[in-house]
Amino acid sequence: MNQETKQCNKCKEAFVIEPEDFQFYEKMQVPPPTWCPECRLIRRLVWRNESTLYKRPCNAPGHTEDVISMFSADKSIVVYDQKYWWSDAWDRLAQAGQDYDFSKPFFEQFRKLLRSAPMPALSTGYPTMVRSEYSNWAGDLKNCYLIVDADFVEDSAYGSGIIHCKDSFDIDFTRHSELCYFSFDIEKCYQTVYSVSCKDCSDVYFSKDCVGCSHCFGCVNLRNKKYHIFNKAYSQEEYEAKIKEFGLGSYKNLTDLKARSQELWLKYPKRSYRGLHNTNVKGDYVYHSKNVQYGFLITDVEDSKYIALIHSKPTKDCYDYTDWGDNVQSIYESMSVGLGAEKIRFSHLVFANAREVEYSYFCTRSSNMFGCVGLKDKQYCILNKQYSKEEYKELREKIIEHMNKMPYVDAAQRVYRYGEFFPPDMSPFGYNETVAYEYFPLTKTEAVDGKYKWKDAEEKNYQATVRADELPDTIDAVQDSITKEIIGCEHGGTCNHKCKTAFRIISQELQFYKRMNLPLPRLCPSCRHYERIAYRNPLKLWHRQCMCDYKVYENTIKHQHHPDGRCPNEFETSYSNDRKEIVYCEQCYQAEVI
Ligand SMILES: [Zn+2]
Ligand SMILES: [Zn+2]
Ligand SMILES: [Zn+2]
Ligand SMILES: [Zn+2]
Ligand SMILES: [Zn+2]
Repeated sequence: MNQETKQCNKCKEAFVIEPEDFQFYEKMQVPPPTWCPECRLIRRLVWRNESTLYKRPCNAPGHTEDVISMFSADKSIVVYDQKYWWSDAWDRLAQAGQDYDFSKPFFEQFRKLLRSAPMPALSTGYPTMVRSEYSNWAGDLKNCYLIVDADFVEDSAYGSGIIHCKDSFDIDFTRHSELCYFSFDIEKCYQTVYSVSCKDCSDVYFSKDCVGCSHCFGCVNLRNKKYHIFNKAYSQEEYEAKIKEFGLGSYKNLTDLKARSQELWLKYPKRSYRGLHNTNVKGDYVYHSKNVQYGFLITDVEDSKYIALIHSKPTKDCYDYTDWGDNVQSIYESMSVGLGAEKIRFSHLVFANAREVEYSYFCTRSSNMFGCVGLKDKQYCILNKQYSKEEYKELREKIIEHMNKMPYVDAAQRVYRYGEFFPPDMSPFGYNETVAYEYFPLTKTEAVDGKYKWKDAEEKNYQATVRADELPDTIDAVQDSITKEIIGCEHGGTCNHKCKTAFRIISQELQFYKRMNLPLPRLCPSCRHYERIAYRNPLKLWHRQCMCDYKVYENTIKHQHHPDGRCPNEFETSYSNDRKEIVYCEQCYQAEVI
């Protein structure tokens, strides 16, 4: 097959299908896509509500206690508490099984199933969660609070995208770290505070793109350095005296130091992409990967394209695959699929050795499933009804034919045949309840115009007992009774950060601030999360030329491949043309990093 340019059925922009893409679609026995890669990614993300949690009734028979759930009470969803949903106390097939009806489009029948098949309150690896009931999209958490998209985390609160961390607060996209605070994209760090994209660092504050450093403050692009402040070397004694002088425990000082550090970060060149130990990759935040095109925030991925948010163990031969990993292969147009899953198409939350699953939602340890919801340990089911192997194969073929002959058409007149992911209007969530809102922010009007759902924030009525500006400036002056107060968030709900308007300090958090000598925050956890994810570049690439010309930044040495003038190298980068950062190609960046 030759390269083909198509027009996206959603945004109407042109997109290209390469010969190797056609080969993949053929291997997976799927038609080529009709939406562009970005619209496809958003279409998946509108099904993922990580952190908008509600208290709601449990619909399990005889249960009277409310549960914490990602499904608000006003949704047409049957919700069971985690323990009951995962148990064998109820018959999954009897509850909602449907005959296939050839007089209606498949997706309409799937929508009905979605409203009748019971769903677990949260998407967590029950029973691996210990004292962490306010966490979602997670497994193996212990004593955690509002930690989402995470595995193996202990004694921590507030954050997302976290693997193997301990005693840390306000962190996002962080791996194998301990005693860290308010950081983004850090790995194997200890006591790292207000830092971005640092690896193997300890006792590092307000630093960016540093590797193997310790006792550094306000630094950028350093390698294996000690006792540096604003990229200048000091003796140990001088360093310690200066740090004391900075008085980090004061909110006023911290705010000034943060601004000063960020100003310095901008003066140094940035690498065109972030990653380590890769071969032939294109994307951003890519680690230990090989032959990956358009990969974002991924680790251990091979021979794949349009991949995002994969953070554990090998992932191979996948396209349009978002979230999870852990030994999976041959996944297409799916999200949150993991744990040994293989050959999964158009599905969400399908895991634990699932095989040959299509158009299914929340199914585990199952194979040969088509259009199923909430099943466990099943085979050969369609719309939650059991068939024999032969009946299944025959009916599946007929349904695919029927989906093409009688497609579903949404309110925007978009047509969904076999080969499309679930239509966005079937998602149980509003755009702003999901991570789509974080990666591709839209206003309510824009979302509704694009035929996405929207969920107006529920009335909060939090009566703040203390204003943010009334908090003591230094942590030393904070009394233990602060954990009883309701603090008004400084943004007061006027921002687009899904501000909670007020917040509390939990006691393990207060102990952490005291131990680390850090002042109390002035923003609610949601506003803090949005402040950190502002450090993350968009999941998009722009074609640019290296900015190295010996003028925008004064190079420390002559660059071998262009001894003078502007570097001719071009690359794909997640820094768009209108950004302030100085973006260098790999050769020029490596020449400058010391
Ligand atoms: Zn598009
Ligand atoms: Zn807020
Ligand atoms: Zn805010
Ligand atoms: Zn260059
Ligand atoms: Zn250069």
